[in-house]
Amino acid sequence: QSSKLPENKTSIFSVMSKMANQHKAINLSQGFPNFETDKKLKKLVTRAMKEGYNQYPPALGVKELREEISKKIKNLYNHTYDPETEICVTAGATQALYSAITAFVLPGDEVIVLKPAYDSYEPTIRLNGGKPVLVQLKGENYEADWDEVRSKISDRTKMLIINTPHNPTGTVLSQEDMQKLEDILKGTNIILLSDEVYEHLIFDGLQHQSAARFPGLAERAIICASFGKTFHNTGWKTGYCVAPKPLMKEIWKVHEITVFSVNHPMQKAYAEYLKTPEPYLELSKFYQKKRDLFLNLISSSRFKCKASSGTYFQLLNYSDITDENDVEFAERLVKEKGLAAIPVSVFNINNKDHKQLRFCFAKTDETLEKAAEILCKL
Ligand code: PMP
Ligand code: GLN
Repeated sequence: QSSKLPENKTSIFSVMSKMANQHKAINLSQGFPNFETDKKLKKLVTRAMKEGYNQYPPALGVKELREEISKKIKNLYNHTYDPETEICVTAGATQALYSAITAFVLPGDEVIVLKPAYDSYEPTIRLNGGKPVLVQLKGENYEADWDEVRSKISDRTKMLIINTPHNPTGTVLSQEDMQKLEDILKGTNIILLSDEVYEHLIFDGLQHQSAARFPGLAERAIICASFGKTFHNTGWKTGYCVAPKPLMKEIWKVHEITVFSVNHPMQKAYAEYLKTPEPYLELSKFYQKKRDLFLNLISSSRFKCKASSGTYFQLLNYSDITDENDVEFAERLVKEKGLAAIPVSVFNINNKDHKQLRFCFAKTDETLEKAAEILCKL
C-alpha cells in the first residue's frame, strides 16, 4: 500500500518510554508527571460518573466547562471568547491542533513552522497536502528571527504556528515578539495557530504572552491548551481550543467528524475544579522549584545548559561528555546507564552539530535525585 506519511516513524515519545520500561530506566523522556493528579479532581470525576454523566456530552463540550474556560481566559488575558460559539473541548491539545490544521490547510497551502517544533505539526500539515515552510529558531536562546519569518510569507501562506512556552527548548516569546508578529500579520489573511499548552509553566517572573492578549493576533488566532499539562493528568487526554467564531465554525466541522465529543465525566470535573484558580496559578512556582532542584543536583556534572524559562523540560548540552550524536547518546544512556531522555533532533532541529538531550523534570524529587546521580557520573 502507498503511505500518506512515508517519512513518519513511531513517535520518539513512544519509542523512548518503551525503551525506558524495557531497561527499567528512570524515564525523563516523554513529558508526563510521575506523581498523582489532585485527589479532589479524581473525586469530582467519580462523582460525575455516579451522577450519570456517562453518555455523549454536547459535541463542543460541557457548557459549564466552556463557561469556565471563557472566564479563565478573560481573567488572565483580558479577551472574551463566547462559550457558545468560540470554544471547543478536545481530546487533548493534539486533537485541537489536528482539527485546526485540517479545517483550513488545502493542498498546496504553505504553513510557516518555527523549528525545532513539536512533532505533530508537520505531519498534520502534510496529511492535508500542505507544505511546511520551516524557519529555524536562532542561537543558544532559540530566538525567532522575525525578519526571516516575514521573508517566508507568500501568497500561499495559510497559517503560521507558534508555541510558547516552547517544547523542547523551554524558551518563551516576549511581549515584543508578539508585537512584531502582530505587525507581520497585519493586513494578511494568515491564521495564527498558537500552541499554548504550557501557559501555566513559566519561570523567573516571566509572564505568559498569550495570543489572546494582542487584538491583532486574537482576531486571527486559534489557541490550543491542554488540561493534562496543567492538572497532572496527561492520560485523561482533555484540552481545548478557542478562536473567533468564523474560524471556530470550521474547526467544529472537523471536530465532529473526528471525535464528535470527548469524555463527559472529566469535563464535568474540570468545570467544577476550574472555579478555584489556585491550582493553575501556583503551578509555575511548583515547577520552578523542580527545575531549580534538578539544575542544582546536576551542577557538578559535565553538562552545560541555560535554565529553561517555561514548560517542564530542560535541554542539556553534552558536548563535553561525548562526540556521539543525540540519538546514539540517548540510546546508550537508557540501555547502559538506566536513564531515558529525548534526543532533540527529532524536533527537526536540522543542525548536525547540536549536542543536546531533553529531560522532563515533572518528576518526584526522589526521581530527580536518582537521575542526577547518573548524570553526574557521566
Ligand atoms: N503541543 C505541545 C507543544 C506539547 O508538548 C504537547 C504534549 N506534550 C501537545 C501539544 C499535546 O498535548 P495533549 O497531551 O493535551 O494532547
Ligand atoms: N508532548 C509530550 C512530550 O513532548 C509527549 C506527548 C506524546 O507522547 N505524544 O514529551
